[in-house]
Amino acid sequence: MDKIMQSRLDRGFLKYQKEYEDKALEVLRSGWYILGKEDEAFEKEFAQYVGTDYAVGLASGLDALWLAFRVLGIGKGDEVIVQANTYIASVMGITINDATPVFVEPDQYYQIDADRIEEKITDRTKAILVVHLYGHSANMTKIVNICKKHNLKLVEDCAQSHGACHEGKMTGSFGDFGCFSFYPSKNMGAFGDAGAVTTNDPELARLMKIYRNYGSEKRYYNMVVGANSRLDELQAGLLRVRLAHMDEITAEREALAKRYTEGINNPLVVKPGVAPYASCVWHQYVLRVPDKRDSFKQYLEDNDIATIIHYPIPPHLSEAYAYLGVSEGSLPVTERYAKEVISLPLYSGMTQEEQDRVIDCINSFKG
Ligand SMILES: *Cc1c(COP(=O)(O)O)cnc(C)c1O
Repeated sequence: MDKIMQSRLDRGFLKYQKEYEDKALEVLRSGWYILGKEDEAFEKEFAQYVGTDYAVGLASGLDALWLAFRVLGIGKGDEVIVQANTYIASVMGITINDATPVFVEPDQYYQIDADRIEEKITDRTKAILVVHLYGHSANMTKIVNICKKHNLKLVEDCAQSHGACHEGKMTGSFGDFGCFSFYPSKNMGAFGDAGAVTTNDPELARLMKIYRNYGSEKRYYNMVVGANSRLDELQAGLLRVRLAHMDEITAEREALAKRYTEGINNPLVVKPGVAPYASCVWHQYVLRVPDKRDSFKQYLEDNDIATIIHYPIPPHLSEAYAYLGVSEGSLPVTERYAKEVISLPLYSGMTQEEQDRVIDCINSFKG
């Protein structure tokens, strides 16, 4: 029996192989490789998908995050509120600008606990960075209201939430900026690094286009110190192919998640829930296994089933952020989740047979 991988990007490619290959050849033969027709068309189509007026193609999700704060003028001396249980890139988007992350604990859906945000607001707080973790929308109604009440900017990290909605409105359309990654393993993955921001503000979109290209709008006239964060035509073209199939790709993930939720019945594991206001696009299907996570992972591994921990070390406990001085024990929910979570195999093109093997194996785990 073949080992079941946690993710299989080849299956996602093979599903639409001909379309991807035709587009790749078209771009290769076009003689134009960075910021051209494909990027322009992609930005229009992606903005329409998310439901914003603008999208700006960038080189990665991290660039989308740090450039968002840069364009919003958030930097040294400013505080940004962010959930503590996130991928470290969310936090780096803040600290690359010399701003200070202020961590908030997650709720039962692994999203920022909206009821614990206001206690963290000070007169230095400038923004909230919401991460729609694992593909589940955060509680945007409450968070948008908090931002309005305290006059804070709102940035959304949508690297895991392409297509996920809060009360029918898509993540990435609530904030000043929605920040997307198209890293190959994301729900909407490219075939290399790529990212984008979405926004409804024409001036923010214009500034982002200036910042992504060395701070230049007109060739060799540089308005600000920018970055090289341009989207290449190959990725933009391939992303257009992927975008055209996103509803199908998301529906497939939803069906796989539903089968897990219906099939898994081991009382030793806690299955993920979906909040009444949210839709989830299942970037990850995350179980919690209190006390026994590591032996559970080993047991699956011994049965040729690979899993991944998202994430074993919360950013505040990583070596990179020792300088923040946020001590162990100060974010107990986050720290407990880091010891209990485990992400099951879930990918485009996963077969029923593969999924049944995972489900049967989990249900036979005795602890
Ligand atoms: C992947 C990811 C990022 C970073 O995206 P890159 O394209 O790898 O730079 C940021 N935030 C979250 C939550 C992510 O999952």
